[in-house]
Amino acid sequence: MQIRQAQIEALQRAVGRIIERCPYEQVSGDSGSGSEDERLLKCILELCKTDRDVVAKLKRLKLLARNPKRVEVYLFEGGEWTKKVGKSKGSTRDTTVWLNRDLPCGELKGTLYHEVVHTDQPPSMPRPQKEIDAYTQTEQWTIKRKLPSQSADNSFRETLPDGTTVPSSRAIKDHVRRGYGFNVPDSGPLPPQVVGRTDLPGGVLLDDGTTRAVREGDSFMVVPKQELNEQLIPPEKLKCS
Ligand SMILES: [Zn+2]
Repeated sequence: MQIRQAQIEALQRAVGRIIERCPYEQVSGDSGSGSEDERLLKCILELCKTDRDVVAKLKRLKLLARNPKRVEVYLFEGGEWTKKVGKSKGSTRDTTVWLNRDLPCGELKGTLYHEVVHTDQPPSMPRPQKEIDAYTQTEQWTIKRKLPSQSADNSFRETLPDGTTVPSSRAIKDHVRRGYGFNVPDSGPLPPQVVGRTDLPGGVLLDDGTTRAVREGDSFMVVPKQELNEQLIPPEKLKCS
């Protein structure tokens, strides 16, 4: 059965969910606003010392601070659906970037870098590939800048026999599978991704607009409705002196 993208989105709206384009898991933090957003701005501008090119890219983007965002990953395992709740540190849609206002400065810089990588990716790149690319580029950068890893346990990094630290492609791919609900094979082309369930018998919705019967290991992410208290970071302040 063929279902158009618009119909998928209508179905998702009907159940109060939207598909998240770029979330990733968060370690900890509390919500806030006002002075928190000042701190966020100050932290971003610390990049002027080392990464003026990254700050320069922000003038073509709309940057918003928000409360930590809750996401849900559904996994079909052992013949039933289970739900895992996680948090997203940042998101990107086209040229709009959201950052959680509670992130410690080191993590905030990594998150910003990750989201800016997304804004440079070609729209035709498949979403799982976008995440693998953004995690890999960002991890490389955080290693170089001696900033915290994007993974709480440093698992996104590995040390080569010559002592060099590099991003771990295996750990990053694994995270994109488990943290996002993407189907990423070890090799070969990406299969159509599951983006939701349907009321059709045993059905899942795929991102190519089709449906099929559910399979063991199927997984997808949804974002429940929530108040994020989004505040625009004044664009005129996002520049190096
Ligand atoms: Zn991402």
